[in-house]
Amino acid sequence: MADANKTLGELFRDLRRERKMTQASAAQRIGSAQSQISAFERGRENVLSHEKIEALAHLYDVDLTTMLSAAAQLEPTARYCSSRECPTNMPFVFGELIRFRPTVVQTNESYCRMCGEPLVPECPHCNAPLQPGLNCSRCGHEYVEGISASSVVGDPEEWARHQRQRNAEITSVVAPAVPRNENSNSTV
Ligand SMILES: [Zn+2]
Ligand SMILES: [Zn+2]
Repeated sequence: MADANKTLGELFRDLRRERKMTQASAAQRIGSAQSQISAFERGRENVLSHEKIEALAHLYDVDLTTMLSAAAQLEPTARYCSSRECPTNMPFVFGELIRFRPTVVQTNESYCRMCGEPLVPECPHCNAPLQPGLNCSRCGHEYVEGISASSVVGDPEEWARHQRQRNAEITSVVAPAVPRNENSNSTV
């Protein structure tokens, strides 16, 4: 049934057309914007939350897990987890700020194995390809939003060091496939 050469967005676009629904009506039914459905169908999977995609699958009467595995035949691309709380994002202290260095992984999955948040395949600000580091090299935007150093309990350096150690332990135990770090020079 599902075409393995299609992205999740394209598979959902086909479903919508088969059901003779417009982007606007699908958007209205799941409580999102037409522009979001449009972007989602063009491959920007992170514009919709997991709940909205579930709702869309429900609306089209398909099983999301089946859809995700059908779309998972795609070429892996460099992605990182958008959640600051995720152990794949490592905190470092820069003066008054704690910033997070994302672990860029090559994957064809849309959601983080560690925390379930959407994985991001590009700069969330300007859509430039991902580069190693904390910032987009094109627009300078942080990949993961930083926090104030004063918002953590105790010494920020100590806190960050402890978090990094803890994160490294969690990621090495739970997801052996995760930290294939850096060298994302072949970003698609
Ligand atoms: Zn995550
Ligand atoms: Zn950017």
